[in-house]
Amino acid sequence: MPFKKLLSTFTRELQDAAQMLGGSSNGGGASPGFSSLFGLNLNSLSSPAIPQSPTPCPRQQPQANHHDWIGLPHPQFATFNVCPTCYHNLIRPTPYANSFVTKGPHTGYPPNTPVRCDMSRYWVRVAGMVLLTMNQNGRHDITLLARVAATRAQDGDCPNSQLAGEHQPLAVARRPAWYTLRDPHTGAQPLPGWTVCASCVLNVQACCPAIAAAFAPLPGQGLPPPGQQQQQQQQQWEGSCAMVPSDLYDDARTGAMLQQIGACAVTAQMTGRVDMSQLVNWLQANPPAPRGGGAGYSSTHAGGQPPHAGGNGLCPRGYPSTSLRCHTMQGIFDLTVCEQCYAEVVKPDAEKGVELARRFDPTPAVMPSGFTCQLYSPRMRQVWSHAAAAGDLALLQAKVSERRAKERELQMKRTQLQQQAAQLREQAKLQEHLAVNAMRVSANAASNNIMIAGIGGGYRIDANTIAVPSGVPDFSQTTQLNNQAAMLKVQAAGVEDQIRMAEEEWKRYWE
Ligand SMILES: [Zn+2]
Ligand SMILES: [Zn+2]
Ligand SMILES: [Zn+2]
Repeated sequence: MPFKKLLSTFTRELQDAAQMLGGSSNGGGASPGFSSLFGLNLNSLSSPAIPQSPTPCPRQQPQANHHDWIGLPHPQFATFNVCPTCYHNLIRPTPYANSFVTKGPHTGYPPNTPVRCDMSRYWVRVAGMVLLTMNQNGRHDITLLARVAATRAQDGDCPNSQLAGEHQPLAVARRPAWYTLRDPHTGAQPLPGWTVCASCVLNVQACCPAIAAAFAPLPGQGLPPPGQQQQQQQQQWEGSCAMVPSDLYDDARTGAMLQQIGACAVTAQMTGRVDMSQLVNWLQANPPAPRGGGAGYSSTHAGGQPPHAGGNGLCPRGYPSTSLRCHTMQGIFDLTVCEQCYAEVVKPDAEKGVELARRFDPTPAVMPSGFTCQLYSPRMRQVWSHAAAAGDLALLQAKVSERRAKERELQMKRTQLQQQAAQLREQAKLQEHLAVNAMRVSANAASNNIMIAGIGGGYRIDANTIAVPSGVPDFSQTTQLNNQAAMLKVQAAGVEDQIRMAEEEWKRYWE
């Protein structure tokens, strides 16, 4: 279990740190020495007893109409929801158990909204590990879980968040920026080909604030230079994320990377200096396994060409890629297959002389209009193996066109909903902006009124006048605007949930 390994490494780091600090913990609540941390005898545990759920979370998929949600009391975290199973298995054995309250049916969402258990999210579980193992200085409190659960990158979840196993190639996606390591002191980028998505960066930064400054967009990406107007259509770059924060399995390599990042964070906390060389050394010493050869490769580097012809470890999955190359099939034009999936699925069949496989063009080509891969999902690989074994071109054709139609439908729906959510978030931002202005105006008016009253000019105050200029600022407009902003945000979250549900349905029935 990578999480266990993660814990044991963090524990070791903390023990080293404790020794370096002369065996005393630096305040913040941890008892002297770390050996008795949270009642666990960490010294003797080579695979520590992190509260592992004996049963997987039963509410990883959003569900409506539960009346037994558990969460945190502060209204700011009203939408942080934990199912009883996860609470009993993961939280109750920890010192944080008492921070939680029973929320019953109150999920912070409108009634009957399907809600997912936040403890089933990858980064929330990582945050839990941080609390249990890396919080000796008391920098974090339990709200870290809720804050990480609410962390959403503007450009979406990690493209790898839906990978089902280590055999699946990393996903390729278009994003406004890909991030890499940058030395905040020198500006040097030790690994420009190693790229991470915005969502993973935000979550790592939330969990390890000490090394937050270590990440920066690849040169030329990210926000436009100051003074230059944000273009209407933000530029997008094709690339991939080196991390796999999948909810479906624990990716060992990602766990190992997080171990290294955790170690860098511990060092940074102690020295006050961000130094990621431990992670850099580890990445250089441990090139990705052949999922493979290009894990974390970004096509905006390496001149837009995948590093290895024929299986570069990257698959665009549902994202229309314009820079990767694909194989096409004679007879079924819609059946586009990336180089990686071709190498894994079609090529071996072609070598065995399977007729359908031999209809594929063995030379991959770039599709200027973009292509999605049709052979990465277990479902379609099964369809392929049936059709290939039976030589059934018609079956393959039917399945592919059915899937393509659904894929287009999802893409259109997703684009439309994403625009809608972005608009709502934009409006919310505007309302918040107006609220700040209104607050300033009210405060100014109040202080002006005080001055006017003070110098006695302008207003004649008599007993029959109700509109007495008062020195108490009237913030009702501010409150109203803030409420509107909050409502717009809830609406945006609702639209984002619709996107997630559409993707859920796609995964369950069509992918
Ligand atoms: Zn749960
Ligand atoms: Zn990512
Ligand atoms: Zn593929």
